[in-house]
Amino acid sequence: MHIHEYQAKTLFSRNNIKTPKGVLIANTKEASKACSELGGGIWVVKAQVHAGGRGKGGGVILCYDVEAVENACEKLLGSQLITPQTDAKGLPVNQLLIEAGQNIKQELYLGLLVDRQTQKITVLASLEGGMDIEKVASETPDKIIKFGVDPLGTLSLQDCDSIAQQLNLTEMLTEQFNQTLLSLYEIFTTKDASLIEINPLIVTVENTLLALDGKIDFDDNALYRHEDIIELRDTSQEDEKEKEAGEYQLNYISLDGTIGCMVNGAGLAMATMDLIEHHGGSPANFLDVGGGTTAQRVAKAFELIQTEANVGGVLVNIFGGIVRCDLIAEGILQAIEKVGLSLPIVVRLEGTNAQQGLALLSGSKYNIYTEADLTQAAIKIVALSQEQSK
Ligand code: GDP
Ligand code: MN
Repeated sequence: MHIHEYQAKTLFSRNNIKTPKGVLIANTKEASKACSELGGGIWVVKAQVHAGGRGKGGGVILCYDVEAVENACEKLLGSQLITPQTDAKGLPVNQLLIEAGQNIKQELYLGLLVDRQTQKITVLASLEGGMDIEKVASETPDKIIKFGVDPLGTLSLQDCDSIAQQLNLTEMLTEQFNQTLLSLYEIFTTKDASLIEINPLIVTVENTLLALDGKIDFDDNALYRHEDIIELRDTSQEDEKEKEAGEYQLNYISLDGTIGCMVNGAGLAMATMDLIEHHGGSPANFLDVGGGTTAQRVAKAFELIQTEANVGGVLVNIFGGIVRCDLIAEGILQAIEKVGLSLPIVVRLEGTNAQQGLALLSGSKYNIYTEADLTQAAIKIVALSQEQSK
């Protein structure tokens, strides 16, 4: 689960990580009051969306008077913000964080994540933080310091010290850096985060370390034990299709490819996607309709896949272990009745009542290709969807 910058900063402040003073608003009318509350003569208006790269997308606006703040609010509120990290549609801006502008001497990067390769919670730190951190990581990876925390131990003050030393921080900054990193680690572990980033972590002209930005992702599987985190959810930032799928207990993730997949079981879904790739295609989605699925759920799943803009063909791959294949076939036919069939479709059924299911489909008035063999099914759908795109 993702949260907004302002929510991450609230968590930071509660854990003694310094952040700029800020006020959250949802209406331009609140802007001038926010400015006087914050004081000073420079303000930053920041769009609250679940994506980074806002600076590059025009979602972070530096203002030198109240009128400019109001103009920025007017421009951003109610708009869709497109950044290098969003899709072409962007994300809706419903809230803005207005902050007291800071005098930046240096922008650092500090992050924590679960490194799958080393299987450790890993600290990432760099002196070259800011909006081009991705470029630093790909072109000059040496400039990013990595430290894997011993899974049987914890992050110690000495560990923080050695990271600060590698960054060549002054003694005064080292103390603040250690405090910040220890607090981040505390948040990461107690709240079951999967990623925390402060980019930039700034050094102000007064030599104070401040978290100028904040990003926290949480492990969905652990949310059940964090009521306070669940409350931070903002569904306006979530993918419509994924949300709709969730309401039907469908596990759906939109992808960039052209072949829609409907599969039961996450493992089989992954294998199906691999097979599509192996035969020269690319999946448009990941979809696990679940083990004990119903005809109604299958119909919904089919509808979701077919209405995905880039889909050029659909591959259904069901192994009838708990679920009966004839039921799945009925669901597919129901869905076609409802939303029509505008795309080539290949259905592979195997397991309980597979023969009845396949017979139902091939005996229908629709043009449905049936296959008992998964490899053949994958080859067929790749060929059909390529023809479709010609
Ligand atoms: P992101 O682009 O979504 O990561 O948004 P950030 O919150 O990181 O802001 C982007 C950039 O805006 C930062 O890297 C800073 O360079 C700049 N910025 C943000 N707040 C301030 C501020 O208070 N003062 C100044 N001078 N620059 C700021
Ligand atoms: Mn940032």
